[in-house]
Amino acid sequence: MRPLLRVFVRRLTGCVQPPQPSSSESTLDPDDWSEVRRSGHELLDELLDRLSSVREQPAWSPIPPEVKERLATPASRDPMALTDVLEDFRRDILPYATGNTHPRFFGWVHGTGTVEGAIAELAAGFMNCNVGGREQAAVYVERQVIGWMADLFGFPSDCGGLLVSGTSMATIVGLAVARESTAPGDIRRRGLEAAPAPLIAYASTGAHVSIRKALELLGLGAGSLRQVPERAASGIDPRALEAMIAADRKAGLHPFCIVGTAGSVATGVIDDLEVLADVAEAGGLWLHVDAAFAGALILSERLRSRLAGIEKADSLAFDLHKWMHVPYDAGCVLVRDAAAHRATFSADRDYLSRFERGPGSGDPWFTDYGPELSRGFRALKVWISLRSHGLDRLGRMVEKNCAQATWLADRIEDSKSFRLAAPASLNIVCFRAVAPAEIPIESDELNREIVMRVQESGVAVPSSAEIDGHLCIRVAITNHRTRREDLALLLDALERAREAVLAAG
Ligand SMILES: *Cc1c(COP(=O)(O)O)cnc(C)c1O
Repeated sequence: MRPLLRVFVRRLTGCVQPPQPSSSESTLDPDDWSEVRRSGHELLDELLDRLSSVREQPAWSPIPPEVKERLATPASRDPMALTDVLEDFRRDILPYATGNTHPRFFGWVHGTGTVEGAIAELAAGFMNCNVGGREQAAVYVERQVIGWMADLFGFPSDCGGLLVSGTSMATIVGLAVARESTAPGDIRRRGLEAAPAPLIAYASTGAHVSIRKALELLGLGAGSLRQVPERAASGIDPRALEAMIAADRKAGLHPFCIVGTAGSVATGVIDDLEVLADVAEAGGLWLHVDAAFAGALILSERLRSRLAGIEKADSLAFDLHKWMHVPYDAGCVLVRDAAAHRATFSADRDYLSRFERGPGSGDPWFTDYGPELSRGFRALKVWISLRSHGLDRLGRMVEKNCAQATWLADRIEDSKSFRLAAPASLNIVCFRAVAPAEIPIESDELNREIVMRVQESGVAVPSSAEIDGHLCIRVAITNHRTRREDLALLLDALERAREAVLAAG
């Protein structure tokens, strides 16, 4: 019942209401739990209806200008009824998502999510745990989840680990431990001036931009990253890597870290991690591996050999929200040496001191392993989603997507309108539209326009990548909802968009 209505009813009936708490003791809890309960149940039903019929909806919808205007209005000073707020949510927010729950979303590298993970988010919201540490089940759940991951990737069971927002943050954590562990001098206390020589890191030209960002944030600067040439099929060129390390040593610099890429963002190429581990060991360098999405190959009996050597990494960053389908956001960092991990981040403060019993106990605390003190209960959606499906089924989704990419690449090879831009060795297919010689259209322009038209049509969402300095259409299949028929619809849409662009051009 709306408050105003309640006043009228009270006046009309003259009945005596139970005493309301004085305003100084009012809380944020609802006056009427039954109303909130109804709104919550209704919304949950709607969301389930929507997700179960997602194939019939557009893969992406443009946001109308009036919606953007409403989403830029100031915060309301007065309370609004939850039902009204949720109406606004239904109208202005829900229809305009990224689209990655859709079976024909192939943009960038996005996970699809699971309904179980979404329900877990709701449960975590109700529990509202702060998982910085303390004696609570959430801490044990996160430790358990990290233990599962360590076991999968062949890390020692006593390794360090932390759930984070994604691989970008996992890489910041991993490289911070690398800096702390391999640089001589007390950098935590004195900053980089404690390092006797500039620290240098190495990654392939196809490595993700998050690595450069991490080095920038750690005070090493983008210039500390050497971009090592890569080969299309096998990633980083180890000879070039060794030569660069030797040259930097000779120049008086301090090589400290090799970053291996397991699944490059453009084409999915995987560095030879065995070789990188050997080079790192021989030179006393740290090996960090970015396995953001392709780390999920570890779930497949048939495909995990592609990650051989990953178990030798000193630190490993990967996402649970990409190919493992936990809802955003969820990434993980594992650090082989838990003591080194802790030594990078622990900070004794009296208000964080540990008791032997009660909620203030439960050492070690996650806040000792990363930059954040307060942390949400991310582990619950991992725990619920992974247990609901089991690792083997998740592995089969990875295998299915790789088979679908091969199928798509074969269609592209047979096509007269498109040509492969890179081998499709994993789950990513990169190709370019071909224009007849008599139509003067620039290739980048043609391919960009095709991508945007297909996205705007709502049929499917491919994205683009740059290969050999030229834009190509990129289809990354990290989608457990995708079927062959979805890829056929995508091909149709691409063909039609190509014809339309060529006709207009
Ligand atoms: C997505 C991705 C990242 C960044 O991960 P986030 O979870 O988005 O922070 C890093 N490296 C690779 C190869 C990626 O695909």
